[in-house]
Amino acid sequence: MPSFVMTEKCDGCKGQDKTACMYICPHDLMNLDMEKMKAWNQEPEQCWECYNCVKICPQQAVEVRCYADFAPLGAACIPMRGTDTIMWTIRFRDGMIKRFKFPIRTTDEGAADISSGVQAVDVDVSRIKEQGLFTQIFNGVTLKTP
Ligand code: SF4
Ligand code: SF4
Repeated sequence: MPSFVMTEKCDGCKGQDKTACMYICPHDLMNLDMEKMKAWNQEPEQCWECYNCVKICPQQAVEVRCYADFAPLGAACIPMRGTDTIMWTIRFRDGMIKRFKFPIRTTDEGAADISSGVQAVDVDVSRIKEQGLFTQIFNGVTLKTP
């Protein structure tokens, strides 16, 4: 079931150029009503239920109606993302609440170095168009990781 915005919680990301939910949606589904300063899912039938907008929203204003087999009517699954952890609050149909907290990163926010430990090598990039797997085409090229 698609994501939906609880308008009473949404603050339109305080009128920034692009809201967090618009930035993160891989399908460009989220939109902002500039007059009301409320976001909305403009094409719910196209929603992948990937939860990206749910997790990124700083106001916890987006929810996805979970599948009935694990969250029947009245139940909910709501994340709260911190800088290094995410807490999932599960509300069961009978009102019982359980919370689960997981680490989401091993480096400080903004400190990840994507090239760290990768050795630069000379490769003939024109060969990338050849049919075949990377390891077949560039056999013998070793990219070192830590
Ligand atoms: S990220 Fe949340 S607060 Fe920001 S516009 Fe989207 S729904 Fe509203
Ligand atoms: S759940 Fe995923 S696909 Fe659906 S609106 Fe949110 S970010 Fe887009």
